[in-house]
Amino acid sequence: MTAMVKAEGVHKSFGTAHILKGIDLEVAPREVFCLIGPSGSGKSTFLRCINHLEKINAGRLYVDGDLVGYRQKGDRLYELRDSEVALQRRDIGMVFQRFNLFPHMTALENVMEAPVQVKGEAKAVARARAERLLDRVGLSDKARNYTSQLSGGQQQRVAIARALAMEPKLMLFDEPTSALDPELVGDVLDVMRGLAEDGMTMIVVTHEMGFAREVGDALVFMDDGVVVESGHPRDVLTDPQHDRTKSFLSKVL
Ligand code: ADP
Ligand code: MG
Repeated sequence: MTAMVKAEGVHKSFGTAHILKGIDLEVAPREVFCLIGPSGSGKSTFLRCINHLEKINAGRLYVDGDLVGYRQKGDRLYELRDSEVALQRRDIGMVFQRFNLFPHMTALENVMEAPVQVKGEAKAVARARAERLLDRVGLSDKARNYTSQLSGGQQQRVAIARALAMEPKLMLFDEPTSALDPELVGDVLDVMRGLAEDGMTMIVVTHEMGFAREVGDALVFMDDGVVVESGHPRDVLTDPQHDRTKSFLSKVL
């Protein structure tokens, strides 16, 4: 079976700052893959490389069997054209800590925007899907509200619906609940749990260890640009093998 995401010796530097120092990992289709680690360890950078927001400096990164950003001929790599990169990006949904919604649009318009603008989809089709998705995230009654009128948790659920509107095969979540008031976190995690049950492949950067333990299929602990430890969430969280993992978990659990 082709991995949904495969990283082989991935390196990323910003100038002289070496951030990702040879990441190897594999995410299987339908897997909920949790990524944890201290601030600054390179978690967001790794997600951004998968989603073409950053270019890796060495190694190989594949999504669903395709090299991210390149085509390989023999042993040479050729950069993809912008239009080809856009096609690869369409298949990946990303949800950020800050929701990045369009404040001058309603929730419904936010969710319709990409299918109409990027795929050229008919508005009626996009609207019907957007209504279904807002219902799925528990916000059908907020469809006509401007997103600036919604709570943080509601905005994040709109952001998830917006990402799903492009019918991605992979969803990336970068600390989706870190900016939320504690009482709003549960609703967002419930939506993510539902997605997981529906078989979505997800990489989730999170400090919600309860979510990782209950919903995660795999867990990786990253520190200083390397994968320190990985395994089943229950095993890593209850019986960490490395001192760095133990020390990190003692602070967040
Ligand atoms: P994490 O998400 O694990 O907190 P990040 O991937 O955001 O870590 O950042 C890892 C390191 O890379 C940090 O030291 C950060 O300052 C640095 N970094 C991230 N993006 C850039 C950038 N565009 N330019 C320079 N340094 C960056
Ligand atoms: Mg981050």
